[in-house]
Amino acid sequence: MTDTISVEIKKTDASRISELDENNIPFGKLYTDHMFIADYKDEKWGNFRIVPYGDINISPANQTLHYGVSIFEGMKAYKNTQGEPVLFRPLDNFKRMNESAERMCMPELPEEVFMGGLSSLLNLDKDWIPSKEGTSLYVRPFMFSTEAYIGIKPSDEFSFMIICGPVGAYYNRPVSVKIETKYTRAIEGGTGAAKTAGNYAASLYPARLAQKMGYDQLIWTDGKEHKYIEESGTMNIMFVINGKLVTPKLTDTILHGITRYSVLDLAKDQGIEIEERRVSVEEIIDALKQGTLEDAFGVGTAATVAHIAKIGYDGHDYELPPMETRTLSLGLKNRLENVKTGKEADKFGWIYKV
Ligand SMILES: *Cc1c(COP(=O)(O)O)cnc(C)c1O
Repeated sequence: MTDTISVEIKKTDASRISELDENNIPFGKLYTDHMFIADYKDEKWGNFRIVPYGDINISPANQTLHYGVSIFEGMKAYKNTQGEPVLFRPLDNFKRMNESAERMCMPELPEEVFMGGLSSLLNLDKDWIPSKEGTSLYVRPFMFSTEAYIGIKPSDEFSFMIICGPVGAYYNRPVSVKIETKYTRAIEGGTGAAKTAGNYAASLYPARLAQKMGYDQLIWTDGKEHKYIEESGTMNIMFVINGKLVTPKLTDTILHGITRYSVLDLAKDQGIEIEERRVSVEEIIDALKQGTLEDAFGVGTAATVAHIAKIGYDGHDYELPPMETRTLSLGLKNRLENVKTGKEADKFGWIYKV
């Protein structure tokens, strides 16, 4: 419908698809044969092209390298039951990318460039979409400054690119997480709701400290008081307390996750009671102590639903109920997978055929 840009295509003469083993996909290391690039210059987008995947040339004075002028998106492509390539809610990623762009003084990307780039690239590299259960093609659109200028000001020149890589199941076991009460991912008025590079660079150090203590990941709390739960790693977080699905309500310190919206829609559809509100650390710890916390899990594109086995807080570790009792979240995870792969009818209009 929006595939109206004209894309110049230079195909690779040495496909690497034989490196793809669907039974053993290393995360984030294997990329498809091609990539899409568009350039922004003189206040317009142009030079739409697909070239063999490979390194790019940038100036050492590039503003991205020095000041983090960079935003990204993440979505997944699947093969449906007919073997056709489909994307899950790409227009929502498109809208969110432009929200990130505005926050970072980057140019708005037209829908036909985002969607046209995706369609052209996925049609060319569709054989890279794995079909084994739990696998998919991770699609990474991103935009960054290409301007060579060592001064702090909004850039005038940018590239928008899309790269893709096949992925297997992201986490294969429930994770242990530590509630972070010293470091901060996002603060009111900051950039927490934008998918921008610096947020992730700044989260590495506190995550590494927690990993040294034996945890897999952090639960972020609010930057002001460290009393309210926000997210888990790079996923939104949900709890099941007394049969209710409870999740922090969205603010400008929480990334507005598409998986979060999708899981909530599916839960509503099943008549599950939902509460989107502030969730205090105290409430979660009390529920853990009283045994009323039935489930806790992260939701995001990469892992879909990542169950939490253990929560560390204030020097104590609290075990969560065993996996076989987590029927509500396991059911939602299953339904989401089934909608994505076309095994369940797409009544919400989430599936986009490329
Ligand atoms: C991307 C991301 C999410 C999840 O968003 P999805 O659209 O569901 O993939 C959650 N939190 C953070 C910080 C993220 O970067």
